[in-house]
Amino acid sequence: MNKPMDVSVPTIGYWINGQHVAAASSRSGEVTNPATGAVSKRVAYANAADVDRAVQAARAAFPAWRDTPPLRRARILMRYRELIEKNRDELAKLITAEHGKVLADAAGSLQRGLEVVEFATGIPHLLKGELSVNVGTDVDCHSTREPLGVCAGITPFNFPVMVPMWMYPVAIACGNTFVLKPSEKVPSAAMRLAELFKEAGLPDGVFNVVHGDKESVDAILAHPDIRAVSFVGSTPIAKYIYETCAKAGKRVQALGGAKNHAVVLPDADLEFTADALIGAAYGSAGERCMAISAVVAVDPIGDQLVEMIKKKAAALKIGPGDSGNMDMGPLITRQHSDKVKGYVDAGEKEGAKMVLDGRGFTCKGNEDGFFLGASLLDKVTPSMSVYKDEIFGPVLVVLRAKSLDEAIKLINDNPYANGTAVFTRSGGAARKFEREIEVGMVGINVPIPVPTAFFSFGGWRNSLFGDQHVHGMEGVRFYTRGKVVTTRWPDADALPTGFHMPTLG
Ligand code: NAD
Repeated sequence: MNKPMDVSVPTIGYWINGQHVAAASSRSGEVTNPATGAVSKRVAYANAADVDRAVQAARAAFPAWRDTPPLRRARILMRYRELIEKNRDELAKLITAEHGKVLADAAGSLQRGLEVVEFATGIPHLLKGELSVNVGTDVDCHSTREPLGVCAGITPFNFPVMVPMWMYPVAIACGNTFVLKPSEKVPSAAMRLAELFKEAGLPDGVFNVVHGDKESVDAILAHPDIRAVSFVGSTPIAKYIYETCAKAGKRVQALGGAKNHAVVLPDADLEFTADALIGAAYGSAGERCMAISAVVAVDPIGDQLVEMIKKKAAALKIGPGDSGNMDMGPLITRQHSDKVKGYVDAGEKEGAKMVLDGRGFTCKGNEDGFFLGASLLDKVTPSMSVYKDEIFGPVLVVLRAKSLDEAIKLINDNPYANGTAVFTRSGGAARKFEREIEVGMVGINVPIPVPTAFFSFGGWRNSLFGDQHVHGMEGVRFYTRGKVVTTRWPDADALPTGFHMPTLG
């Protein structure tokens, strides 16, 4: 952090007004390849002047973009979609090189992002307003949704393409201009996305990218010309973003961390369930906000289920994300991998049963990479830190419950409420779970219930601060404000007179 520039690796600057620009700030940070531990690039950290440059470009581009017919905006998004499709492999490689996840996973996340671009191409329809004729005698009323101006997005390391795409395609389709501040750990994919958008015909200044840390984020939050902020990241920062933006009068949606539970009922198909849980817990090395990190096994299924998960988890192939055929790559940084190990240590000390211990794993040929094996802890209780905290690594904890009611209560008492799932063959049990669970995204025999782009994504409680979820119609509402127009065209000789409160009848 904040080291002088290392000239032996390239430094990534910003994308402002349709071109690459160098930073005014002298601060920068390292970008690491998690599979090798080597520093591959440096990235500039924006100061307030850098952020202002991006905002001024976005501000200048706003009036013409706002006035561009939605259908023309949509056509640019259609071309953008094609270009992303064409450059899919390159983008997936950029994700893997800086995040570490396996290429198939990177490509899958790109696809989920692309679906939001596809959703946004429907913007002429999505922006249609309402009309009521004759709300009073010869009086009509119609409503429109109008863009806000310059919007900003601040995103986490774990989805370098998908999470930014939850935001900017919808914001831009609605007629806003945008400044993105991606995670400083994974800056390259966002730059390529910006280049492709220009190639698709997006006017300069509509989409801008700056990089950086807290200082850069604070400059965004303090900028008077930024009207709305979308944030995705950890809960403490999400809360800070929400409070700071609210105080400044900005519109804000701030998605936070998670502890996602899967409830397994005794009638579930165990083989299917165990397979689903392996992917949901250890895929992307557990660095997903929708990862299943806690299993609630309802009596008497626990022992059998744990045995099955153990067997499958022990067989996972772990290695560099780009080496083909791997199930799981490294974690994002050495510091994070040490933190995850610390949680497994704590779980053991607090009395959890260690079923599978991933702490000692080393990746042959990549000894300096940030790899961990899969860990599985059983007989975990709600007071243990492995249960209470979001670990964000390849660690699955199993709790036991006597009944579905007890499992539901446990989940509803947890401060996080992003996603959850139930595994059962009983329609009645599934329906009860769906009705009684207080969580934003629910899966019935679906371990990671990430809504498609046509629906909205978001959790409850400490997993989201704000009123609107991302993409889908909530995204359109977040990035627009309503206007209602009441119209009368009176005959010149029949004008109403008087100073009383107007009524329409
Ligand atoms: P993070 O909170 O550390 O960082 C997120 C963003 O905030 C980054 O752009 C970062 O530069 C910035 N930031 C970091 N510290 C800051 C500070 N003190 N002040 C202002 N800005 C700051 O999160 P991360 O480690 O990049 O990502 C992992 C977290 O994101 C996990 O908690 C995960 O659950 C969460 N996440 C949530 C969702 C969701 O949809 N709810 C999706 C993906 C990730």
